[in-house]
Parts: sequence; structure tokens; C-alpha cells
Amino acid sequence: MTTKSAAAAARATVYGYPRQGKNRELKKAVEGYWAGTVTAEALRTTAAGLRGETWRQLAAAGVGEVPTGDFSYYDQVLDTTVMVGAIPPRHRAAVAADALDGYFAMARGTQDAPPLEMTKWFDTNYHYLVPELGPDTVFTADSGKQTAELREALALGLTPRPVLVGPVTYLLLAEPAPGVPAGFDPLTLLDRLLPVYAEVLADLRAAGAEWVQLDEPALVQDRTPAELNAAARAYRDLGALTARPKLLVASYFDRLGEALPVLAKAPVEGLAVDFTGSAAANLGELAAAGGLPGKRLVAGVVDGRNIWVDDLERSLGTLGTLLGLADRVDVAASCSLLHVPLDTAAERDIDPQILRWLSFARQKTAEIVTLARGLTHGTGAIAGELAANRAARSSRAASPITRDPAVRARTAAVTETDAHRSEPYGVRTVAQRTRLGLPLLPTTTIGSFPQTGELRTARAELRAGRIDSAAYEKRIEAEIRDVVDFQEKAGIDVLVHGEPERNDMVQYFAERLTGYLATRHGWVQSYGTRYVRPPILAGDISRPEPMTVRWTAYAQSLTSRPVKGMLTGPVTMLAWSFVRDDQPLADTARQVALALRDEVHDLEAAGSSVIQVDEPALRETLPLRAADQPAYLAWATEAFRLTTAGVRPSTQIHTHMCYADFGDIVQAIDELDADVISLEAARSHMRIARELAAHGYPREAGPGVYDIHSPRVPTTEEIVRLLRAGLQAVPAERLWVNPDCGLKTRGLPETRASLRNLVAAARTVRAEV
Ligand code: GLN
Ligand code: ZN
Repeated sequence: MTTKSAAAAARATVYGYPRQGKNRELKKAVEGYWAGTVTAEALRTTAAGLRGETWRQLAAAGVGEVPTGDFSYYDQVLDTTVMVGAIPPRHRAAVAADALDGYFAMARGTQDAPPLEMTKWFDTNYHYLVPELGPDTVFTADSGKQTAELREALALGLTPRPVLVGPVTYLLLAEPAPGVPAGFDPLTLLDRLLPVYAEVLADLRAAGAEWVQLDEPALVQDRTPAELNAAARAYRDLGALTARPKLLVASYFDRLGEALPVLAKAPVEGLAVDFTGSAAANLGELAAAGGLPGKRLVAGVVDGRNIWVDDLERSLGTLGTLLGLADRVDVAASCSLLHVPLDTAAERDIDPQILRWLSFARQKTAEIVTLARGLTHGTGAIAGELAANRAARSSRAASPITRDPAVRARTAAVTETDAHRSEPYGVRTVAQRTRLGLPLLPTTTIGSFPQTGELRTARAELRAGRIDSAAYEKRIEAEIRDVVDFQEKAGIDVLVHGEPERNDMVQYFAERLTGYLATRHGWVQSYGTRYVRPPILAGDISRPEPMTVRWTAYAQSLTSRPVKGMLTGPVTMLAWSFVRDDQPLADTARQVALALRDEVHDLEAAGSSVIQVDEPALRETLPLRAADQPAYLAWATEAFRLTTAGVRPSTQIHTHMCYADFGDIVQAIDELDADVISLEAARSHMRIARELAAHGYPREAGPGVYDIHSPRVPTTEEIVRLLRAGLQAVPAERLWVNPDCGLKTRGLPETRASLRNLVAAARTVRAEV
């Protein structure tokens, strides 16, 4: 290999950018459109303005090729569904009547047509709308959105590179449409889909695109030989087209593995490959495969999913190695910058000494440009940037926030026994039964009660200084009294305090733990117009004082029934935060677990006989590759046990999970060694209960019998039916009766009616067993 390619100037590029705008203008415009206060025209103008601003900023920063088509009113996978004409029959009339309204109807549903299902985009916190396909699906090309955005960027004098979800990933993300047998494999539609992609590519070429990016992140997951063959065929066919732009096939979120040689051999002009985190293995695998002679390599060296400044010297090292492996090497983030906030400059409350450790989309763009310059002109050309980068990184490494000796000593001293209950479940359950005296099929809820407008107002008033904390706490106490009183009257057995003091189940704890950082404007799209502000696990984690005891103890003082203490578990704390990149996740999880363990002990000391530690995110951070999953599950379950295992045998530990199919991690659920688990199950008619039973799960379980995702009040008879189904899988002595999840998004009247029906159903079924 020669290094002559070093002479070709390396370009800086990005695959996608946050869409919302500095002040979340997009959210406001879209929601305004839904509410009827913003016209379609005004929405389009706002959107075009945001795109233009992003592109101009990227170009001004030195990005050579700007992405187009990555913008979305709601979701890029839904945009792809429109592009290939795969509109579900139930939405066709709406789409035909008005494309924009039809688009939102697919995303959000209408009175008579439910929306597409939504699920997580790989292991990120972004959610996409799942394509619904079947043997009758007919694809038709609609390149309108893509060509229009391309023309907008061309009109600004820029070099645009349209970004599309690739055909293989599109099909692999799809599900059989309603009514289509579950065994239907959408990948069988590939031959029908490729001509549509060919047409879109031809349109983009005709409209002036030199390169088009096709995103194939599904190829970083374990793939069958048939799926790899499909990928090979797709790119052989698309590569063989004559009227087409140059093709850049992009992968991210993990290593390509067996898909790497497939793509390397494909007749496409370029590959974009992730070299960060667990994808770093791509480097060795690329070298082993003989590199990409004759191709363009876009190297994702800056972590697109985290918020830490890059290690520029290390990235330059990686890029230098890659120069020998491809015809041309360009520089990018590992994935779209959609998954990080926009700009650290907006964070006025973070100490400037710490702020310089952080890098959001705008700063990452600058890092990419710097690296491209360094790669082209040598390190001398970026000496100033390298010095600043080194200084920022060493200030972080040396900071007492980063390393707290007390926390380190404590984590180092953790032993096997700390993560194990003192007695096996068989002994604990007897002690717990005696202490709690619950009926068969005990009833409980998952934690939160409806978050009323008054509560949100109270929080806003506290923040604004219009009320003091004493007044705020009075309001929280009043809310707790209402919630406890209702539960007692309704006849619920294990009560909750209702979580009125919590804005968010992760943020609440993050704000109370040392080592965590909160942002003011660090919004990241979760789905549609919903944005979250993940806190940052910035340093070593410790708990300066109890976080929840005051509220749980207050609730307990109002009733003789047990009130569950309520905490967010360590894995979920990590999953919904930005994590450290300077130590293994397992170490961070351990620190968080020890801080939570202190809270568990304080709750127990204050009289809690039941403590719930929620882990809804346990399944969602499961690594994409099966080979990496056992190690993850080992530290994740250990962190949960470290949080909970120090309690007395008579103290009952609950956990809760939702949002996903847990069928494939039942073994890990078992390893949590929680006394009781509640799970989402109402919609799947207790499937998880059957899966637990099939595994031989030995402890108590509450598969949800009330679907809290809808305002609908389930009838007593319906809940009775679900409970009888539950009893087929879980014996009566071990079955709990509870909703699917917390009630914070529900209205008060429907919640009360539903819970009364739930208690009535439990009583009916109790009489039968
Ligand atoms: N205890 C939390 C609640 O009830 C659990 C939320 C969740 O599972 N996402 O709100
Ligand atoms: Zn839940």
C-alpha cells in the first residue's frame, strides 16, 4: 500500500445533525401544527430555515460534504416508508387527502387508524416507527423529500450528500403488517424494493448528487448467511446501475464482523465505518480483509453517541493507520450527531472548567474538521487544537470530580458476598410472608401516580423562586396524602407514595448524586417531538444524603399497610444518561449501585418492608452482538444485586421492567434475585408470564394486567381473564396483581376507575383459587 492518498485532502463530514434547532423551534412548529396554531406553510418555512442554518454552520465550520435528507418532521424511518410507498392500507386515504396530515397520522394515529408501532433505534434512546410489510406490499418510489432537500443545499452553494436508510436495514427493521402471519420475512421483498431504490438514486443523480449515503446499521448485528447474502445482492444490484450517484454504504454502532468482507467486495465507491468503542475492532478486521483498495473510507473516529471531547491524538493515530488501507480517507463521527445535544455554548450553568471536557454536536463537528486538517497537513497544522485538547483532557483526568479516593476505595473493597442476599429465596419468602401478612394475589402499583398540572406548576414556581421549598414540600405532602388515602380506600395491599416529587425517574436521582451533571439545554430527540435531557455521569458517584427516605417515610406514617420504597436501578441510571468514556461501564455501574445501596439501607432503617428498584432499561442496553451480551448481563445483574442484596431476609425487594420483550433475558432476570418482579404484559396477554414459567422462574411475579399506555379503563372481567391466564403460568402463591407500568402519564379519573377494577378482579380470582 502506498500513502499517496495522504496527498488527497481528507474531508470532514457528518451523517446527520440534531434537527430541533437552538430553541427547539422544530418541536414548537410541529406541535403548533398539530394544535392548529401553525399553518403547514409556516411549518415548512421553519423546517427549511433550520436545515439551512445547520448546513451553513456545518459549511462554515469546514465540513466539506453536508448531509441532506437526514432532517425529519418526525422520524427518518417513517420518511423512508413514504419514500418507498409502503403506506399501511389503514392510512392510505389520509395520505392521499393530505401528505403532511397523512404522515402525522402514521406517526400518531387517528381516531380510527392506530399509528405504526414505535421501537428503539438499535441500542440508542431514539425511537423509530416500524415499517409494516407483507407479501402484498407494493413499493413505489417517491423521491420528493430527498430531491427537494438536495436542491435546497445546492442552492446554498454547498456540496450535499443525501442520506437514506439502506434497503437491507429498512427490511430488517420491518415487521409483518397486521394480519400477516408472524413468520413472514420482510427480507423476501428485497427484489421488489431494489428497483425503487434504483429510481430514487437516479432521481438524486439527476438532481445533482455526486454521492449518496445508504445507512446499513443493521449489518453490525449478528446476521444469518441468508441476510448477508441479501446485503451482497442488494449492493451488487445497486452498484451495477448505470444512472446512479457514487454510493457510500454507512454502518455504525458496532463492528461489521462478517458483513465487512461483504461490503468491501461490493461494487460501491465508499464505506463509512465506525471505529469507536466496541466498533474499534473494525480497524483490525479491515486490515485483515486487505483494506478497501480503490474505495473511499469515511472513518467514524469521533464518538457520535457520547458528549466527551475526543482524544484527538488517538483519533489521528487511527486515521494514520487507515490511510494505508483505502484510496481516500475522510473523517466523521461514528454515527449521526442526532444522538447528542446541539451546543455546549448554551450551558451557562456548568463550570467553564468542566464545560471544556464536553463536546456536543457543534464541538464534535469542529473536532472532525480539525482531524481532517491534521490528516491532510500533518499535526503541525493543528498544533494549537492539539494543545487545547490535551489540556482539556488532562484537566478532566486530574480533577477530583473524576477521581474521588473514597468512592474508589469503596468500589475496590466490594466482595462477592456484598452482591448476594444473606438467605436464599425459599427462606426469605417465609420471613416476608410472616412480616407482611398479605393476601393471595396481592395488589400493588408500579410507583408513580398521575402527575397533575398542579405538581408541574409547583415545580416551576419553585424553580422560579415564586414559592420556597417549604411551600413546595407542603404541596408534595398533600399529594402523597391523597394518593395514600385513595389506595387505602380502593383496597390496594402494597401502597406507593406516588412519586410526586420526581420530574423524571433518572434525573431526580442524578440531581441528588455527587458526580452527576445536569444540562439546561442538552436536548436529544427521543421520538417525534419528544426530547429528553440525559444527565451526564461525569465523575465518581456518591450520595451525600438520603434522596427518597423523607417522602417514603411520610407516606408510611399515614398508613398501617406497607408502602414500597421506590428507586431507579443502576443499569437504568446508566442507560438514560451519558456515560463516562474513561472507565468500563461496569465500574460506573458499581459506583451508582453502591450509592443506591446506601439509600436502600436508609429506607430499610426507616421502616420500609418493601423496596422496589426499577430496571426498565435492563434489556435496552443489551449489546448488539450476542458475543458481547454475557459480559454485559454479568455486570448489569451484579450492579442490581449490589444495590439490593444488603437487606434483611424479611425485607422484600421488588423490581420492575417494561418497554421491551424480555423473553431472551429471562436468565438474567432470574439472576437479579429480586423477590418480586412486575413486568409489562397486558397487551401480549401474559406472554412474559409464560416465558418465566418455561424458564422455571422460582420467585414472585406480577405480569401487568392493566395497559397504562391508553386512557381506556379495563373492565373487571378483562382483568379477571388476564389473571386466570397468569395463573396458568404462575402459581397463586407467587402471582401479583398490578398495572403494566407507572401511572404518571395517565389522568386521575381513569386511573382511579382502573385500579378499583383491578382490586375487584383480584378479589374475584382470589375466591376461585
Ligand atoms: N416507578 C416508575 C414509575 O412508576 C417506573 C417507571 C418505568 O418503568 N419507566 O413511574
Ligand atoms: Zn415501567
